[in-house]
Amino acid sequence: MSTSFQNAAHFIGGAFVAGGSESFDTLNPATGEVLASLPVADAATVEKTVATARAAQKAWAATPPIERGRILINAAEIVRRRNDEIARIETLDTGKALSETLYVDAVSAADNLEFFGHLVATMTSEHIPLTPTSHAYTLREPLGVVGAVGAWNYPIQIAAWKAAPSLALGNAIVFKPSEMTPLSALVLAECFQEAGLPDGLFNVIHGLGATGAALVGHEDVDKVSLTGSVPTGAKVMAAAADRVAHVTLELGGKSPLIVFDDADVENAVSGALMANFYSSGQVCSNGTRVYVQSGIREAFTKRLVERTEAITHGDPMDPDIHMGPLISPKQAELVLGHIAKAKESGARLLTGGGRLDVAGFPAAHFIAPTIFEAVDDGAHLAKNEVFGPVLALFGFEDEADVVRRANDTQFGLAAGVFTRDIARAHRVVAQLEAGTTWINNYNVTPVGVPFGGHKRSGIGRENAAAAIEYYSQVKSVYVELGDVDAPY
Ligand code: NDP
Repeated sequence: MSTSFQNAAHFIGGAFVAGGSESFDTLNPATGEVLASLPVADAATVEKTVATARAAQKAWAATPPIERGRILINAAEIVRRRNDEIARIETLDTGKALSETLYVDAVSAADNLEFFGHLVATMTSEHIPLTPTSHAYTLREPLGVVGAVGAWNYPIQIAAWKAAPSLALGNAIVFKPSEMTPLSALVLAECFQEAGLPDGLFNVIHGLGATGAALVGHEDVDKVSLTGSVPTGAKVMAAAADRVAHVTLELGGKSPLIVFDDADVENAVSGALMANFYSSGQVCSNGTRVYVQSGIREAFTKRLVERTEAITHGDPMDPDIHMGPLISPKQAELVLGHIAKAKESGARLLTGGGRLDVAGFPAAHFIAPTIFEAVDDGAHLAKNEVFGPVLALFGFEDEADVVRRANDTQFGLAAGVFTRDIARAHRVVAQLEAGTTWINNYNVTPVGVPFGGHKRSGIGRENAAAAIEYYSQVKSVYVELGDVDAPY
């Protein structure tokens, strides 16, 4: 594990380098200890990194797809080999429990690299017959340099979800991780290097929001890709608009999960728990508005509270612990603010509702998994993303009414339905205004399924073949084999 901490620097052109006179510390959320001090990329560093990526990209685009793919597949194997080490780094940097990071974060990154490594080798283009003496074909070309910025909740997953399609399709990428979780992207850089990726194609620069803004606003960045909040997404889109750069935005949500009377109670409760308390609730696609039909309400609520109260807290490095602390004191204050507003609004607290003191971890900010019921549809908690372990329970009677209420939000990232009536499941999902939906499950994101949001939750798709559209462009080639017909 020590290699990555020794490499607490930018990764530019295949080397770990300093750059910028300022620095910032990344902390362990469980202990408050400094894990590493990293340089802040100044304007000259951003400039140099984008130029390095630009210089490397042309030869990479000309590399046969099967060779590009092979390097990504190699990288996937190296990430898998280093899974436990990456999990520990991720847990130290994010505070998420090792019981999650051992099985999800690097695994998802590796799956993504493997998927796009294989996909690019199988891609063909279109041939379009026109007349006996003319036809057309299409070429799929890279965009050039991708400037990508990540959030702090799934650091290596976000880095890989952006790097894999970028690199597979012949782009170079400059990635800026969140200032709170900068370490695992550096391990990914090591994995790419060991896998044989030529220098300059995967670069990591560190910094705060200003560095992200300098990157996405750079004239020579052809595509920007952000995972973050809606307000940051709006700024990034505006910065890209000046030069009409391509944009992918994976933003926040306040997603609905609808449980009908005929649902299996234990499965529906499992879905609601996965929709709210994984990663201490810091998941963009969380189904934080849980609508439960009246016939099942009592049984569902009883089991939901029982199973929520059985969630264990403690040292996130202990693989038997379910839930670690929140990422930062600031995030804990934000979550507690949402909880306070919910209490003031008259919502009924069923469990949780405040901080948890965990022996041995005085510097950590644990929040108890929290469930409110009797939440008004117009209340602050019903409308705003919390990004913490806070579930709002709503009742409903009627299908049409619950669909209307579920859609009454500016967000549209995700949604879920639990029912044994398969016709109803498809009917309801078809009406939900969300980019990623689940029937009888929640928050599973296999790489083969497109992921992304509707409405203010974002633009573009990550994962699956759908991502090809967002990390490449089509060139049409018209071919004339006959004479040219001109009226002059
Ligand atoms: P932020 O929007 O605050 O930050 C996201 C990233 O953008 C960070 O790296 C940040 O840098 C950087 N940044 C800040 N300002 C700018 C700017 N003007 N231009 C470019 N980059 C900038 O989000 P959080 O990190 O707080 O993450 C939480 C949010 O992310 C939630 O809303 C959540 O729903 C969303 N999210 C969405 C996901 C999805 O796939 N749809 C997945 C995960 C999270 P720094 O941190 O250094 O300030």
